[in-house]
Amino acid sequence: MRIGVYGGTFNPIHRGHLTAVRAAADALGLEKVLLIPDNLPPHKALPAGSATGEDRLEMCRLTAGEVPGMEVLDLELRRSGPSYTSDTLAELHAQYPDDELWLLVGSDMFLSLQEWHEPERILSLAGIAAFHRTRGDETERFAQQKAYLEQIYGARVALLENPDVVEISSTELRAQLAQGRGRSFLTEAVYGYVLRRGLYGTHADLKHLTPEELRPIALSFLKPKRMPHVLGTEHEAAVLARRYGADVTSARIAALLHDCLEDTDASFDEITRLFGRTVAELVEGVTKLTRVQYSTMEEQQMENLRKMFMAMSKDIRVILIKIADRLHNTRTMQFQSPEKQISKSRETMDIYAPLAHRLGMQKIKWELEDTSLKYLDPEGYNEIMRYLNAHQAEADAFMKAIQSKITTRLSAVGIHGSIYGRIKHVYSIYRKMKAQNKTIDELYDMYAFRVIVDSIPDCYNVLGHIHDLFNLVPGRFKDYISTPKPNMYQSLHTTVIGQ
Ligand code: MN
Repeated sequence: MRIGVYGGTFNPIHRGHLTAVRAAADALGLEKVLLIPDNLPPHKALPAGSATGEDRLEMCRLTAGEVPGMEVLDLELRRSGPSYTSDTLAELHAQYPDDELWLLVGSDMFLSLQEWHEPERILSLAGIAAFHRTRGDETERFAQQKAYLEQIYGARVALLENPDVVEISSTELRAQLAQGRGRSFLTEAVYGYVLRRGLYGTHADLKHLTPEELRPIALSFLKPKRMPHVLGTEHEAAVLARRYGADVTSARIAALLHDCLEDTDASFDEITRLFGRTVAELVEGVTKLTRVQYSTMEEQQMENLRKMFMAMSKDIRVILIKIADRLHNTRTMQFQSPEKQISKSRETMDIYAPLAHRLGMQKIKWELEDTSLKYLDPEGYNEIMRYLNAHQAEADAFMKAIQSKITTRLSAVGIHGSIYGRIKHVYSIYRKMKAQNKTIDELYDMYAFRVIVDSIPDCYNVLGHIHDLFNLVPGRFKDYISTPKPNMYQSLHTTVIGQ
């Protein structure tokens, strides 16, 4: 395996570093790149607001997801006293004895390599990959230096082109950040980290951020592999809030932060200090719900838990965010391990689908149930899907006929209404098959129609006409108008035989 070794101050790590790593990885076929922030030499007196070694390390970690195979090591930061590249390479060589090490260096470093501590030791332990600037006399000096190192030290030297070179020095970048500029040179998460910690003279007012301004800061709390999930949850939370009339901005904000207590060492107090009490309580509420161990629960406990959920979230947005979180998890379930797919799907079926149901979020309940079924009983799920796909044209024609029968009658008697037909969702069909011990083509109860009218008397009128048009199945009539469901849902339900 070829391993790249990239040391530097990374104060802060920026897009210039990342494009260099990408260029080297491509050119040399590196499978792994080790990013090693160095100890700042003590003679460099640090100006106020400078990043500590810990900050620089953390910022490097936040970028690890940007390049495949990139890892961040703290071995130079841990070392006390002077830290030499030759020692670092020796340590890495001991750790990866069978692999080929390549030291990535910029132009200044490359051109002065023979003046480093123990150049012959460095060059015996690693090849040198130098970023080559194809400009003017630099090309010439690079070629000369390559020939010199090869001749004197028997070095392996690769000159790399860096076509996407980002022209910024760290000094210049720090100056820009102090003036509220420079964001585009950093990854979102690193920019957020700089603001959150007030590094390099930045002063962001974190309590009054829009979701757009908060996004990088939220990412700066996360492990790189978790970032897409949080952005996905933000999106789902906004969709849910819009649909259910909750405040979209605060739903976005809380969703962006929903995993930051879970994922990092951020504390409730720190979140309160940074973002204020309301946001901190939302985040804590979501975190508490996340930490409950569902897998070991009995039926009775489940019911209690569902009640507890409702009681615990004084703020409905907590539940909203938790459902957005779960919705995003189920939609990306194919990336989980088989064990996780099963346990998460079980949890979704037992907790989140009933919760969505209780909140009147029917479409979301259906999606949660169908996706979970796909993992809990793939065969059962596929059988139903195959049947539905094969009979789609037939089902469409059937629903159209029923719909037009109802429409004709309503317009004949002068009732104004809209009619929507649908095939029941997969899990509902699945449950019916199990309960009635039937195969799917023996099942009749597969279609649902909704008639929406302008007044309550019209609801009862339509019901009369439906019962006149079709044969009714006794014992299935429910009047949720006179007795609304706990979530205020009101309608009439009946079951009839269509033909
Ligand atoms: Mn989450």
